[in-house]
Amino acid sequence: MNFCSNCGGPVSHRIPPNDNLPRAVCEACETIHYENPKLIVGCIPEWENKVLLCKRAIEPRYGLWTVPAGYLENNETTGDGAARETLEEAGARVEILEPYALYNIPHISQVYLLFRARLKDADFAPGYESLEVKLFDEIEIPWNEIAFATVRNALTRYFNDRRTGRFALHVGTIEPMRRSAAESWPN
Ligand SMILES: [Zn+2]
Repeated sequence: MNFCSNCGGPVSHRIPPNDNLPRAVCEACETIHYENPKLIVGCIPEWENKVLLCKRAIEPRYGLWTVPAGYLENNETTGDGAARETLEEAGARVEILEPYALYNIPHISQVYLLFRARLKDADFAPGYESLEVKLFDEIEIPWNEIAFATVRNALTRYFNDRRTGRFALHVGTIEPMRRSAAESWPN
C-alpha cells in the first residue's frame, strides 16, 4: 500500500506508538491500515465413494487438481464461503459437514479451513476458474498432479480416516518449501 484508502494521502511504513510491528500509516489523516492473514475456505465434496476435484484454469498451478476453495468474503460464514466456492468453481451444490482440516501457513500469512461436504446431486460443471471437474475414486486420485501441499495432505488424511470411519479435525502448519516459496492458492 502506497496511498491511504481513507484520504488518498501518502502512506509510510512504521511502528505506531503502543504497537510492536510496522504498519502502513497515513501521513495525512494518520489512519493505521492493518493487514492481517487471509482465511481460505473450501471443502472436500463427497459423492458415493468419490471426491470431486477441480482442474485449475488459472495460475498459480494451472492445469493441476485441487478441491474447491477460495477467500472468505466479508459478512460470510466459513461454511457458506466453502459452499459458494464449490458452486463457483465446480458448479456443484453441497451440504457442508464438519470442519476437517485447518492449516496455518504463516510464511504467506494464510489460514486454510477445509470442510467435509456432501454433494446434493451429481450435477456439476466447471466454472471459469476450472478446466475440468471430475469425481475420483481413491485409486484414481492424480497424486502427482495435486496443486497444493495442503490439498495433498488433506486428501491423504481423508482417505485414511475413511478406512477407519472416524473423521477427526486435523490441524497442521505448512512450512516453506525449498522449491516454491509461494503456496498462494485461492482466487
Ligand atoms: Zn489518510
